[in-house]
Amino acid sequence: MSTHPVPAACCPGCGLEVAAATNAERGVDDGPGPGDLTICARCRRFLTFETDMSLVEIAPEDYVKLPLETLASLMRALRLLASLSQKAEEESWAVWDPDDWP
Ligand SMILES: [Zn+2]
Repeated sequence: MSTHPVPAACCPGCGLEVAAATNAERGVDDGPGPGDLTICARCRRFLTFETDMSLVEIAPEDYVKLPLETLASLMRALRLLASLSQKAEEESWAVWDPDDWP
């Protein structure tokens, strides 16, 4: 798991400014690129990076169009985010705010 800076973009769901993305896949150390999927750390909406690295929300009705392996990766990332969020809550820091990370 590694965190990479990305061009600042706002989550279309909650307005969080996203300036970094963490790769939740084991054995892959690349930063995100256009077409890659991500999850907003605050509102947990599924998003995709556009060509200009802006973020757009994936409509729930489009989830079923994603390849099964992609859905499995998103579910793993959601579980990781939930685990991190629980730890952050216990330790009084915000998982979605890099300035707040311990
Ligand atoms: Zn959001």
